[in-house]
Amino acid sequence: MRWGLIGASNIASQHMIGAMRATGGEVRSVLSSSADRARDYAAANGIATGYADLAEMLADPDLDAVYISTTNEKHFPQAMAAIAAGKHVLCEKPLAMSVDDAVTMVRAAKDAGLVFATNHHLRNAGSHLAIRDLVASGRIGTVRSVRVFHAVHLPPHLQGWRIDNPAAGGGVIPDITVHDADTVRFHLGEDPVEVVAMTAQSGMGQGVEDSVMSVWSMPSGAQVQAHESFTHRFAGTGIEIHGSEGSIFARNVMTQQPVGEITLVTAAGAEPVSYPTHDLYERAVGLFADAVAGKGYPSADGRDGVASLAVAEAVAEAARTGRRTAVNYGG
Ligand code: NDP
Repeated sequence: MRWGLIGASNIASQHMIGAMRATGGEVRSVLSSSADRARDYAAANGIATGYADLAEMLADPDLDAVYISTTNEKHFPQAMAAIAAGKHVLCEKPLAMSVDDAVTMVRAAKDAGLVFATNHHLRNAGSHLAIRDLVASGRIGTVRSVRVFHAVHLPPHLQGWRIDNPAAGGGVIPDITVHDADTVRFHLGEDPVEVVAMTAQSGMGQGVEDSVMSVWSMPSGAQVQAHESFTHRFAGTGIEIHGSEGSIFARNVMTQQPVGEITLVTAAGAEPVSYPTHDLYERAVGLFADAVAGKGYPSADGRDGVASLAVAEAVAEAARTGRRTAVNYGG
């Protein structure tokens, strides 16, 4: 797979370039809004060509796919351009600034016969695959509730547009609530119906929320409680899934690393759950490349990206209006 990076980002240099190379891919080019930065980023990461013009980059006939990791407001126009140029797309979350735009880009890729995937890394974690298997195999019976703990401390090098730029898609809801929505959908196999929510600015957000708590109803009747924040130094992350026959307690699993502890508690007692510790991003990139080769599906496709954004949009709307809000999954 011959990749082009749209966006000279941290996530690409920290995780994705390595994942592309580890899965046999070639990283051919990188696009930045600044020619100097494109050149410097290309040199620092061993990439042959840095572009400041998207059309020029997409004109490369040897480019198979693009990975889009610019700030959120750029995902939609860049994805549409890549699709028009016949490139497969792996796009960062949130897919777009609105569900309507996300639906449009996913549909455009489908109509063009291209693979489109969303980089929801958590469902690639061995921990979450093990949790999903426990739920799906009935080990905890009928799921009654889920509690998601995803209140972290945003590290200084990521405290740019995320904490002060609503036009670039800043705020904790587009940043983290989308991941939690995807993870809950992955585990329960159903889509949230209605949400209530409240946000806060608790020391980091300037003009955007840095904390949010929300409750979601699920079609099965299960309730979901989610907490996302940029300002919690010592809270740790986790997910609990409680069913009629057992509970799953997973600590430190809402993370980019293959770490964390899972305990299953049933009438028989508490037992630790083991899981594979592969790299999350390598798995996502590998499945994407396989899908492009006509073998299988990406771990999170376009519909998954639309759905996670729809839940996040509903949470933001519910917090803004103070009303119970139906999730609108778009066309
Ligand atoms: P960054 O802030 O690192 O990059 C976003 C853009 O900011 C880049 O495209 C670049 O613009 C510009 N930029 C970055 N660093 C600098 C710098 N030192 N000087 C000047 N400009 C700079 O964002 P992230 O990597 O944190 O996030 C990018 C996207 O990826 C977002 O959509 C985010 O939601 C998503 N993400 C997903 C994760 C996941 O696990 N799935 C994890 C982290 C982020 P230009 O390209 O024009 O040079």
